[in-house]
Order: sequence, then structure tokens, then C-alpha cells
Amino acid sequence: MSSVSQSIQKLKEQLPGEVTLVAVSKTKPNEMIMEAYEAGQRIFGENKVQELVDKQESLPKDIQWHMIGHLQRNKVKYIAPFVSLIHGVDSLRLLRAINKEGAKNERIIPCLLQMHIASEETKFGLDETELFELLESQDFQSFSNVEIRGLMGMATFTDDREKVAGEFRTLKNTFERVKEKYFKEREEFSFLSMGMSSDYEIAVEEGSNMVRIGSSIFGERNYV
Ligand SMILES: *Cc1c(COP(=O)(O)O)cnc(C)c1O
Repeated sequence: MSSVSQSIQKLKEQLPGEVTLVAVSKTKPNEMIMEAYEAGQRIFGENKVQELVDKQESLPKDIQWHMIGHLQRNKVKYIAPFVSLIHGVDSLRLLRAINKEGAKNERIIPCLLQMHIASEETKFGLDETELFELLESQDFQSFSNVEIRGLMGMATFTDDREKVAGEFRTLKNTFERVKEKYFKEREEFSFLSMGMSSDYEIAVEEGSNMVRIGSSIFGERNYV
């Protein structure tokens, strides 16, 4: 058995049943993705539009592709026909662009709103005020070709477990309040995407139900 399929199997045994595993295959070749596919994995995450499009074209059509990286508005059109979840939506302008491309493709595109929970400046995402503004805007209410499926966030990159746990706890808390206030009767608002190779165990303890794991499955990357 390959190390990729071993890692997939180990993770599946380890993760609670309600936690969705997104295998982050960015920078990794199609052969490795196929090893994961043959081990039963069907959800893969990429963070670059061109790479996502190329892989989608050449790999099996029952793969569900998640866009997990920062997405530019002018590139939405390339992934709109097939993407199954966009994790990194962090502005009304981006959501408007996704809605427009969703309409062109006659589909409703599932999205997660990305929250800024880390102390690092470099990580994208909304703060709570911006999140509530977005959800309450007239514009947002008029979008019929996007569907908000939940929230996503990335913790600070640190060995301080308490700090990471605290950031995930904050996001879980926001998730619960947003669900109660804006999506109470809406079952589709159900995903809390948090946790990567280095911190998914903490994330799951803090209530994550979607983890995005790359290097623990496919090995270290040479570049991000
Ligand atoms: C690369 C990436 C991951 C996976 O990172 P690993 O440390 O390799 O597990 C998860 N989420 C996002 C947004 C990423 O860009």
C-alpha cells in the first residue's frame, strides 16, 4: 500500500464520522491524487485557479473540487462551472462575482465565508463586524446563485496549543451565533472548516467538522 493511501486510511479511522476530510493536493501530481482516489477519497482542495482547472480536466469527474485559497474576482469564471465549495470568500465583492458566474452557469455555488481568527496580519478573512454587515446587506439578500454553507478560518501558525485552541473556539462561537441569527431554519449552513495538518486535532476538539489536510497525506511541499 502506498503511503498516500495509508495516510488516508489512518485519518479516516482517526477522524470522527461527522468530520469531512478535504485532501489538499496543491502542488502534488495527478498520480498522487489518484492514489488517494483509489483509497476512496473524493474531496480534494486546491488553492490556485489554473492548477485546479487543469486537474479537474484530467482527473475523474466524480471528484469534488474545493477552492481553498484566496480567489480573485476575475478568475471566478474558470472554476464556476464545476467547483463544489469555495472556502475563502471574504468580501461582498467576491461573493457578487461568484453569484454572477453562478447565474451564467445556471447553478448555485456553495461557499464558506472566511473569518480572520489568527493574530498574523497576512491571513485573509472577515472580522465579525464585516461578517454581519455582509449578511445584512441588501445586495447579499438578492443573490440567488450562491449559497452560504458555513464558515472557514485559519489559526495562527504557532506551537502554542492554547492559543490555537482559543482561536478555533472563537470561530466555533461565531459559527453558532451566525447560525442562530441568520440561518436558523437552514440546514445547508452546517460546515465549520478549520484545521490543517499541524492543528486539525485541536480543531476537531474545538468543534470543526471539515478539515483541510495536505502535507500529512501527500508529504511536505517544496513551495506553498
Ligand atoms: C495548504 C493549505 C492547507 C493544508 O495545509 P497542510 O499544512 O499541508 O495540511 C489547508 N488550508 C489552506 C487554506 C491551505 O492553503
